[in-house]
Amino acid sequence: FVNNTEEFFDFCKENEVEFVDFRFSDMKGMWHHLTYMMDAVTAEQLESGMPFDGSSVDAWQPINKSDMILKPDVDTAFLDPFTADPTIIVICDVYDIYKSQMYEKCPRSIAKKALTHLSESGAGDVAYFGPENEFFVFDDVKIRDDINESYYRVDTEEGCWSDDTDYEVGNTGHRPRTKGGYFPVQPTDSMVDLRAEMMQVLKQVGLEVVLGHHEVAQGQGEIGIVFGDLIEAADNVQKYKYVVKMVAHLNGKSATFMPKPLFGDNGNGMHVHQSIWKDGKNLFYKEGEYGNLSEMARHYVGGIFKHARAVAAFTNPSTNSYKRLVPGFEAPSILTYSSQNRSASCRIPYGAGEKATRIEMRFPDSTACPYLAFAAMLCAGLDGIKNKYEPIGPMDDDLYELSLDEIRQRKIPQMPHTLRGSLEALIRDNEFLQPVFTQDMIDIYQHYKFETQVWPDEARPTAFEF
Ligand code: GLU
Ligand code: MG
Ligand code: MG
Repeated sequence: FVNNTEEFFDFCKENEVEFVDFRFSDMKGMWHHLTYMMDAVTAEQLESGMPFDGSSVDAWQPINKSDMILKPDVDTAFLDPFTADPTIIVICDVYDIYKSQMYEKCPRSIAKKALTHLSESGAGDVAYFGPENEFFVFDDVKIRDDINESYYRVDTEEGCWSDDTDYEVGNTGHRPRTKGGYFPVQPTDSMVDLRAEMMQVLKQVGLEVVLGHHEVAQGQGEIGIVFGDLIEAADNVQKYKYVVKMVAHLNGKSATFMPKPLFGDNGNGMHVHQSIWKDGKNLFYKEGEYGNLSEMARHYVGGIFKHARAVAAFTNPSTNSYKRLVPGFEAPSILTYSSQNRSASCRIPYGAGEKATRIEMRFPDSTACPYLAFAAMLCAGLDGIKNKYEPIGPMDDDLYELSLDEIRQRKIPQMPHTLRGSLEALIRDNEFLQPVFTQDMIDIYQHYKFETQVWPDEARPTAFEF
């Protein structure tokens, strides 16, 4: 791993690197790449950047203004564990040659701007983020477009869950039941070796891996990674998804981060742990307060809750996201906070101590672009600190027990129930984002999501409606 251009070329030489793979993230959070021959890459070029066609990336540039530049961050370089020939991956920002500045729709550049906003606000100098991306592993995925119905075989050695009557493998019963995946040993847990391989490769690409385990749903897994500052943590999400999907793929399986692939079982979250620090001190910690949480941390949560409906357009940006946010599956729908309580939108992990005290936002999922999601939450949190917003809570009961009437009577705000709901909230409520996101970016993002997600989904009859 390297710190500057000189070290980059030394590292490439040492490792006999033949290709340099430049990567950037689009607004969906998908990685794209451009591969150069090692010999064709010079120090000057790393400085000035690589040209590419910005009109072929969804909702970016028009065809008559398509030239864009990739600006590599050489200190992100790591060897690609999956290519046949030695290849080094470098994460890039996108640069707008027409305006001679960061591209306003480049998520990673927006995330960097969010950090400037943090220091300018005076609230802190570092924001730590700890995302937890859950995933499913399926043996085989078939989407039957003809009848708008999807069906899957869940990854288990001997058993299968399927509507596919042609599929015959017998059934020894060695598989988790619905919600029974957390976390019996083998043979019920058939993902041990696959997770182990994922964990090893994640370590190889520079992530600090702590643990792996089967999650609650059938065929669901999670691997725990150490938190990082905002950009590092978002880069790590991109690396994590790449490794998990590739290791599954190379084992003849398919990993998905889709928020709610199976009706009736738990979905995939991306809980995001957060804290703000200044001069080496955790400002979210105050001994003796509820959950040892400082007033500033409470206001940060208050800001996220105040703007949660608009924030959800970035943290839960797919139509499927909202099928996860229903009571009963450890995913939240109610905007309150609580120590230990996994039915609240914000949990304060119990007894964490001065350094580790943090808040855990539980509503985000992995269809989010991590750079945009973290930046949006930071903007909302900072707005909360500025305006001293108090979140409703703490509420330590099982919130899934609350009836809709009680929720209404007690005026407890809820997450939106659809992507349409969150996009409409974003149209009304985006001033808190303005220090970081341009109005143009917000308009285009929201329009793009309506066009590619909301309208096509609303127009289709579903299997359930049949
Ligand atoms: N899978 C649950 C979710 O959808 C979370 C389970 C957990 O607490 O790790 O958010
Ligand atoms: Mg989990
Ligand atoms: Mg969690």
